[in-house]
Amino acid sequence: MARITSIRGRLLYNSRGNKTIEIDVISDHKCLGRVCAPSGASVGKHEATSFPENKPEKSLEILRQNEKKFVGLDPSNLKLIHENLRTIDSTTNYSKIGGSVAFALTIASIDSASKSLEVPIFKLLSTDSNLRFPFPLGNILGGGAHAGPGTPDIQEILVCAIGSKTIRDSIEVNFAVHKELGKILAKRDPGFTNGRGDEGGWAPKLKNDEALEVCARACEQLGFTLGKEVSLGVDFASSTQWNEKKNKYVYERAGFENSLEEQIEFVSSIIKEYKLAYAEDAVHEEAFDEMSILTKKFPNVLITGDDLLVTNKEILKRAEKIKACNATILKVNQAGSLYDALEFAKEATKNNIKIITSHRSGESVDSHISHIGIATKSKMLKVGIVGGERIAKLNELLRISEYDLIRGMVEI
Ligand code: PEP
Ligand code: MG
Repeated sequence: MARITSIRGRLLYNSRGNKTIEIDVISDHKCLGRVCAPSGASVGKHEATSFPENKPEKSLEILRQNEKKFVGLDPSNLKLIHENLRTIDSTTNYSKIGGSVAFALTIASIDSASKSLEVPIFKLLSTDSNLRFPFPLGNILGGGAHAGPGTPDIQEILVCAIGSKTIRDSIEVNFAVHKELGKILAKRDPGFTNGRGDEGGWAPKLKNDEALEVCARACEQLGFTLGKEVSLGVDFASSTQWNEKKNKYVYERAGFENSLEEQIEFVSSIIKEYKLAYAEDAVHEEAFDEMSILTKKFPNVLITGDDLLVTNKEILKRAEKIKACNATILKVNQAGSLYDALEFAKEATKNNIKIITSHRSGESVDSHISHIGIATKSKMLKVGIVGGERIAKLNELLRISEYDLIRGMVEI
């Protein structure tokens, strides 16, 4: 059995150029596991805190003071590593040491174990012999908190090649749609600068409805039928629009406001008109009842909670009681440790809630998430389409396909 022999944290930067931390876990003096923590722009109220007092330096200092607690542990024993971490920080949201440490330390341990045992991470995390590839779900057009003024209020319009039979084809179809959309945008507006949002989706000056319309056109111009070879998805990220004082969703850029009922109508008409396969955070993060109305209304659409559930097992249990959603985002750093996230995944799977493992808008070039998506039997892997930190995850899926251990794509 391998043993952790040293741990080292360092200050680095994410894809937005903001400070983050990276942690090295070394086992048997030679097997290096290395993970850099991501961070979100549209952050759920109940997510794990990334860093105490917003200071990555503070996280690193606490880690340094406690690193001996992990030396000698088996790096593949996630539960034990998690429990040791909890002796340092027992707060529900990792406010003492920072969720970024929980994230990076636990995934780096598994990364180190993978090197030592010469077993890929996805295999270490799952005993299931029937693993499949999740469908890559990628941002083709960005707005909201991920892009500047003039872009749509809606945060993300996404594409997923639901008709693809292989992981390579599903990735290539997403590239093609992203490229086609770029051509349409350039033709439509000679002043379009090819600008992209935080996750690599195009960031044009368009209203919500115009943006959806051009995305649908890009798919159709390539000969695809929406709902057949490809489907569109939307991350409404509705907490960004929600104004508690007004009790309304304020679509500042488009210039309208929605009451709770109007929001349901707004979302429903988009789902129907664009035959969406996927609708994330269609209402704000505390609107469980409204989510359950949508879940009931659209049983064949992935009505997905992100900020609503924040990869939190207890919040998921609350959502299950009223069938608030039929799908959930899984972002490890919302939960904190990989152990927390896998416990969340077990609860979701037990209750037939489909999992979509997701990146954050502020990322690194790490690709462990691709393994986590496979091991949790995720239906989709939301990792963007272009940009080095997005491509890293897609390329890892292609490397994994060489193992010949995974038979084709999941059933959605
Ligand atoms: C999201 O909201 O789904 C997302 C990936 O963005 P962020 O990381 O900013 O929360
Ligand atoms: Mg989201």
